[in-house]
Amino acid sequence: FARFTNVQKSYDGVELVVKDFNLDIRKGEFVTLLGPSGSGKTTCLMMMAGFETPTHGEILLKGNPISGLPPHKRGIGMVFQNYALFPHMTVAENLAFPLEVRHLSKEEVKQKVQRALAMVRLEDFGDRRPAQLSGGQQQRVALARALVFEPELVLMDEPLGALDKNLREEMQYEIKRIHASLGVTMIYVTHDQTEALTMSDRIAVFNDGVVQQLAAPDALYEEPENAFVAYFIGENN
Ligand code: ATP
Repeated sequence: FARFTNVQKSYDGVELVVKDFNLDIRKGEFVTLLGPSGSGKTTCLMMMAGFETPTHGEILLKGNPISGLPPHKRGIGMVFQNYALFPHMTVAENLAFPLEVRHLSKEEVKQKVQRALAMVRLEDFGDRRPAQLSGGQQQRVALARALVFEPELVLMDEPLGALDKNLREEMQYEIKRIHASLGVTMIYVTHDQTEALTMSDRIAVFNDGVVQQLAAPDALYEEPENAFVAYFIGENN
């Protein structure tokens, strides 16, 4: 469904921050890129989004190279830690805004917005402004905004990074529920081992631009391939 082949990336033309990244993602899969800060996870996500170009190698989405089109036009939804909702718009307007530039009728926009809000259980919050929501609710809106296009692939970069522990756990569950109910493919970036182990079908453990191991959570936990993986997965667990 999505494939990275021999992907390398350097920003300054000298040092490679991603070195020979290979990953074949199945449709409907939940894949996590896990690793310490600066290990190259976000860079991989940005290349899939089309915001950065690989220095070497190829990235395909449904067999097609990544074009210069914005992510939502290629069926990609995105959620970041710093969910920038428009403060002067209501929740419903925040979701409708990106749809209105398409040629959809008012009724269609309304339906899609309502469906996306229902998905994150915020049906009754459409008229509020972002400042009138809790952090967790704002993050749900950000998720709804990524889903409103009915994307085939959702890219998430530390989406729960700003939330406290209880909210994080609640949102992990919500994201998994949405993943299961929509059957959408998700690529998730985090430095949190527990989060990766709970949520993922497969995890790619990054260190210094290199994938140290690519495996299902059980296999990573039970049979780490090297000392880095053993140490990193064992930390905080
Ligand atoms: P974090 O969790 O802190 O975001 P990460 O694993 O996602 O870390 P990246 O953000 O991909 O790592 O960064 C990998 C390396 O590339 C880092 O050394 C970073 O400083 C560098 N880097 C990232 N973006 C740029 C950029 N736009 N220009 C130059 N260097 C960059």
